[in-house]
Amino acid sequence: MNMLLHVCCAPDLTISGKRLTEEGYKFDTYFYNPNIHPENEYFKREQAYKKLTEIYGLNTIKSDYNIKDFFNSVKHYDTEKRCEECIFFRLENTARKARELGYDSFSTTLLASPRKDFNYINEVSEKLSDIYKIKYIKNNFRKNNGVSEAAFLTRKYGLYRQSYCGCSYSIAELKKYQRNSEIQRTQTLNELTDENERIFLNSLMKKTFLKVPEDLPFSYLKKYGLHIFKVLKPRIIFINKNMINLYGINKSGRYKIENWKAKFILW
Ligand code: SF4
Repeated sequence: MNMLLHVCCAPDLTISGKRLTEEGYKFDTYFYNPNIHPENEYFKREQAYKKLTEIYGLNTIKSDYNIKDFFNSVKHYDTEKRCEECIFFRLENTARKARELGYDSFSTTLLASPRKDFNYINEVSEKLSDIYKIKYIKNNFRKNNGVSEAAFLTRKYGLYRQSYCGCSYSIAELKKYQRNSEIQRTQTLNELTDENERIFLNSLMKKTFLKVPEDLPFSYLKKYGLHIFKVLKPRIIFINKNMINLYGINKSGRYKIENWKAKFILW
């Protein structure tokens, strides 16, 4: 069976490509995502996709970056409808392309994405399957720990991982979320600490990489526990292993602190 696989991003292709290959499918890949804004972000994601297709030995089918067409098709909708239209837009193009190029089926890596509506993707793909007279292959790549395996493979192959969904609307949503998170964390800091500590800790809130004890003295960890990292929320915490193993962290990796996953590098 020859399938055209729509690829939304390299991280979702890690698990989808692996599972389809293990299940014996023959398929080519099609990175069709004119929803991605701005253009340099599109090229970053496309490069990551190409890198992974080389690692996996998969063929790529050329696609267009027709962002104006995409924007015209979603601009009249609000959030939920817009996302549905966005998925429809990409899958319709995929089904049509698959039919034109003589594939006998199509599918999508969107099925691996935990933030996408699995049932909607299937529903719309079944409709497209009827319209374009081409088989749709439904596969739940999320099951059997698919989401965490995809995260592991993304790190293993050093692939770019995007921080927002794709369109300009999702950039605005991310910024709003970041602003709210910062306001909340500043509030927590104000309730938790005295004035001197507050001024010092506030200066650490914008740090991407936090070193302990160089940036944050160990006394803060002793006083506030792991919670202090959640308030500061750096991307990576570099910490002396003798200091952190008192808190049950014995090797480098990601650890849950309340509802946030912190990344620790131990030395
Ligand atoms: S948020 Fe994501 S799914 Fe929704 S319209 Fe934007 S790019 Fe598409």
